[in-house]
Amino acid sequence: MSNAPKIVMGIETSCDETAVSIVREDGEILSNLVLSQIKEHKAFGGVVPEIAARAHMDHIDTLIKGALNDANMTFKDLDAVAATCGPGLIGGVMVGMMAGKAIAASQNLPFIAVNHLEGHVLTARLTHKAQFPFLVLLVSGGHTQILIAHDIGKYQRLGTTLDDALGECFDKSAKLMGLGYPGGPNLEKIAAKCKDSASACLKYPLPTPLKGRKGCDFSFSGLKTAMRNHVEALPEGDLDPNDIADLAYAFQITVGDVLKNRCQNAISEFLSIYPDLPKPSAFVVCGGVAANSHIRQILKDLTHTAKMDFMAPPMTLCSDNGAMIAWVGLEKLKLNEIDTLDVAARPRWPLDPNAEKLRRQ
Ligand code: AMP
Ligand code: MG
Repeated sequence: MSNAPKIVMGIETSCDETAVSIVREDGEILSNLVLSQIKEHKAFGGVVPEIAARAHMDHIDTLIKGALNDANMTFKDLDAVAATCGPGLIGGVMVGMMAGKAIAASQNLPFIAVNHLEGHVLTARLTHKAQFPFLVLLVSGGHTQILIAHDIGKYQRLGTTLDDALGECFDKSAKLMGLGYPGGPNLEKIAAKCKDSASACLKYPLPTPLKGRKGCDFSFSGLKTAMRNHVEALPEGDLDPNDIADLAYAFQITVGDVLKNRCQNAISEFLSIYPDLPKPSAFVVCGGVAANSHIRQILKDLTHTAKMDFMAPPMTLCSDNGAMIAWVGLEKLKLNEIDTLDVAARPRWPLDPNAEKLRRQ
């Protein structure tokens, strides 16, 4: 067998990004194509599963070809193909998974079925060489979880959301305020226009769900309802941009406050499980919401106080992408964890099978 570094193609189609990437064992990303479907879903204010699946179908072959071209390679240069097989919108997952299996079957390559969440979690090993064990906060449009990564395939969920994901809460709150889709980035921009930050939070008091309680779970539906009540109480007619900026600011501060409290508990739990590590462990934040500067700053300060290493992969690798899937493929290929071609797509696929079943997995 050749000693050359292994090369894996990763395919991601679990939500609203069609993504294909080729990554080498040493962490070099040889190509990384992401096609966002934001335009297709904009008119509906959220991701429409049927439209997503069709859009993946329309573009997957072009992206596969493009990823090979960008890496200046053919299928013959690959050592394996990895594809997200869940969790996610099943129609989309099937498209990427079947494309991956077809490549594996026709090229006689190993196929690796990847858990999308494991992709997010292990990205810090691709970008920052994070060593096990480490703590991860995953905050995206579909997931909000705190996990300990003990080892490859060994994850312990410390907390999850009891209702909405944080990105969903950002998007829905932004929609109520008349901001476009996707709401998260727009809400952050508007919040920066708040002129009187001291009074914004007094003017628009918001609940901090589960703050101060034991554990690391989240709940965001009450926050969303409170946002609705504030918007409905605003004077009728066109919304005043100053009111919207103040409300967005108060929302962001509240979210930061909740995250800080929940992550503080998670850090204590992590350090009680691993009290004697020779080196500081990593605290990793990932998922689309990790783009928010206020949230990043809160987490950075918190982890520095706890003497942990703050790691936030670059935004292109925080939101959905194929490189993280290829990376999990590489990690599993090295362990010879190969799947057969009859492996099924899984709309739900918890990283920690022992965690209590809550609405979000
Ligand atoms: P993902 O689910 O990982 O693809 O990330 C998409 C989610 O991240 C959506 O809910 C976005 O609104 C959210 N998001 C992206 N950028 C930001 C930001 N700057 N602040 C808050 N949320 C964001
Ligand atoms: Mg996405």
